[in-house]
Amino acid sequence: MIPDPARLERWIDTFARITESRTDPGVTRLAYTPLERDAHAVFAERMAELGATVWVDAAGNTYAQRPGTDPDRPAIGTGSHLDSVPNAGRFDGIAGVAAALETARLFAEHGVEHRHPIRFVVFAAEEGARFGQACTGSRIAAGLTGPDDLDDKRDAAGVTLAEALRGVGLDPARVASARWRREDWAAFVELHIEQGAVLESSHRRIGVVDTVSGSTRLRLDVTGRASHSGGTPMHLRADAVTAAAEVVLAVEAVATLTEREGTRATVGKIDVSPGSITTIAGAASLWVDVRDLDADRQARAAAEIVERAEAICARRGVRLCVRPLAETPPVPLSGPVREVLVEACRELDVEPAVLPSGASHDAQQVNTVTPTGMIFVPSKDGISHDPAEWTDVEDLALGTAVLAAGLLRLDATLR
Ligand SMILES: [Zn+2]
Repeated sequence: MIPDPARLERWIDTFARITESRTDPGVTRLAYTPLERDAHAVFAERMAELGATVWVDAAGNTYAQRPGTDPDRPAIGTGSHLDSVPNAGRFDGIAGVAAALETARLFAEHGVEHRHPIRFVVFAAEEGARFGQACTGSRIAAGLTGPDDLDDKRDAAGVTLAEALRGVGLDPARVASARWRREDWAAFVELHIEQGAVLESSHRRIGVVDTVSGSTRLRLDVTGRASHSGGTPMHLRADAVTAAAEVVLAVEAVATLTEREGTRATVGKIDVSPGSITTIAGAASLWVDVRDLDADRQARAAAEIVERAEAICARRGVRLCVRPLAETPPVPLSGPVREVLVEACRELDVEPAVLPSGASHDAQQVNTVTPTGMIFVPSKDGISHDPAEWTDVEDLALGTAVLAAGLLRLDATLR
């Protein structure tokens, strides 16, 4: 049972063609848009052809199930997501869905029997790019968010999550029905691209994840006084942008302290207002993302960023308003599932790297319901969320082989 790299490549191409504009670089297929639903429909159609039972839940997550020989057993699941950030690469999320499709084909063509049902899942709305919340579909499945939270998250055009769900034919009032029941699941495995360069730099082709980083997200609004760039002497200014610039450097400094090795802090977005070359900025907003594998260290780094920002703004005579956006603690994934995946690698004569994930994933959400593991395949130069994102299809095929072997090992060992 050997995964076919050419088929995997065709799946990657098929999904890459479902994009907002063929002329823009990369793939743009945002959460809860008709394009995301189109991609889910392609998955559902192919899975139905392979004989799987297919359904979509109220959160827009798509499922395809191969029955087990023992219908009373809970399901073993695998899958990932098909939405993207704007101008994304071709592999983030898609790799795990292509691997699921290829695994389903292999199982169907070889008449593989398993005791547990195997559920192939495509989660909806994994990327936080549109609504600021990552993993919406899997959070709903895990019961970590629900109908009450769908009205306060909005995209840049002011569309709420609830409206977006309605816009693609889903009913936000019913999302609670998408919640997974513990007794229905035995385990879950997600294959994903690494989105970092640890595998590449250590010459490993497969990673098995032990912990997923947590993340604290803050918005810092700096308010100064807008005025004429020529008329206002330097000593009479309350310049929001120079204060913001100092805050950006403070964020970097906090994360590069030696006791914080492993902390990653980023200002990935800045808005400046009014945004004119001849006006001293009256306001600047910074979006800060703090990630860590250690919950205490993550909290301390976020607190120190706020402290330093307050001191900078006080010294410069501008106001600071801190808005917490999201708080996710680091998540250790299942030890037993990790062991099974490592054994599956060794069965294929591959020594995996056991490593943490810096990015958040659907896997960490469903891990709260059922023991979950992750397989990483290498990202060339560690690049992700960019059109240059690349994973060699041979590596993806090897990852798929590990996935298929891992699912069957779980089937053989789990109750
Ligand atoms: Zn992803």
